[in-house]
Amino acid sequence: MRYYSTNSKLELTTFREAVIQGLPPDNGLFMPEYIPAIPPEFFKASRQLSFKEISLHIAQAFIEDEIPATELRRIVDDAFNFEPKLIQVQPHIYSLELFHGPTLAFKDFGARFMAQVMAYFAADSEKTLTILVATSGDTGSAVGNAFMNLPNVQVMLLYPSGGVSRIQEQQLTTLGGNIHALEVEGVFDDCQRLVKQAFLDTDLNQSWMLSSANSINIARLIPQTFYYIHAYALLNETERQIIISVPSGNFGNLTAGLFAKSMGLPVSKFVAATNINDVVPTYLASGEFVPRASLPTISNAMDVGNPSNFARMLNLYDNDLDAMRADIYGCSFTDEQTRQAMAEVFHNQGYVLDPHGAVSYLGLKSYKQQHPDITGIFLETAHPGKFHETVESVTNQHLKLPPRLAACLDRPKKATRISADFGSLKRVLMEITSNLGFSFS
Ligand SMILES: *Cc1c(COP(=O)(O)O)cnc(C)c1O
Repeated sequence: MRYYSTNSKLELTTFREAVIQGLPPDNGLFMPEYIPAIPPEFFKASRQLSFKEISLHIAQAFIEDEIPATELRRIVDDAFNFEPKLIQVQPHIYSLELFHGPTLAFKDFGARFMAQVMAYFAADSEKTLTILVATSGDTGSAVGNAFMNLPNVQVMLLYPSGGVSRIQEQQLTTLGGNIHALEVEGVFDDCQRLVKQAFLDTDLNQSWMLSSANSINIARLIPQTFYYIHAYALLNETERQIIISVPSGNFGNLTAGLFAKSMGLPVSKFVAATNINDVVPTYLASGEFVPRASLPTISNAMDVGNPSNFARMLNLYDNDLDAMRADIYGCSFTDEQTRQAMAEVFHNQGYVLDPHGAVSYLGLKSYKQQHPDITGIFLETAHPGKFHETVESVTNQHLKLPPRLAACLDRPKKATRISADFGSLKRVLMEITSNLGFSFS
């Protein structure tokens, strides 16, 4: 399997190159040459398979012989020390809980798989691999955790000052070791812009092996297809039409779902559910894509004004708006609606939604209102404990924090503050690295 850039289908590259580079030199995004077709029998048979077995099978279809089967099996084994769970919440409505990983957010799936793959590729390199990550909250801790103590790798986490919850900030500034937190005086889009600039900077690229670990990295996207197939395998209602609702920010998660559909997964529709940062639902309605500055909401991991994976979505559909509309239903919700949904589901079913899961639940309900005969799965992307202040204010109940979260609240925050311009980032990167005594020969 070869990979190309969304800006040019002519130049093909290996999986290894695509993973290490993160972004193609032409500033596009890597895409697989084709989406592997998975035969219908596999989806039927998947009911007998474990999450790891499904993951290995799909990973092989994307990576082929670039990683030997025994190594890939070990990578899947080490990456997935947890599993998704499918919980019925209402008749024909299920929550796919993706937050049972070490940082209690779905980003553990992509981050842990990617970290293992990168460590495999970096093992025979002489340079230290430097990972740059822009995070709106959960990416940072998931990536930081995934790379903790891996040899030959250092990680720089850029996050917007004041733009993440206290718990998220604690999670990403207390890791230490080879993981550095940079607190940017700006919003998430500034962090994302700085990372993109770093990749285009000749100086940095000459001396360092730079890589990205955002959802733009293809090695994070591929493992996100695995749980869509696992969810289907766990579902008992496959005679009804199945739709899946995805709470979206940078649209990596949704893009992975569309990959799975394109592989043959029998899902009739995906819901692109957003908070008021709704440039993609607006595009689906009007045909016009107008990126803009993001606005803060209670589902802050989705506060994205210029979603990076939109280029992949366009590419997947050959810029055909009608084809995209046939597969994706877009909708957006206010914080007020989100709180109301959290309160309702808690009072009626006793199920606790986090603000992101609540947005995807609302998206599912919105679609189901017009198509009552479907079976729906909404993705629960974060443990409610990560947003316990919002959750507690809505449910009026004390929420017990998972021990892992409680522990990291006590550790001292360690972060370097920088202004939102590339000069500051470059200075700080140089400083941190020279303090560590790395040489870039
Ligand atoms: C990152 C994140 C999202 C959005 O996922 P994308 O792939 O960026 O669309 C949703 N919910 C939570 C909890 C997240 O951390």
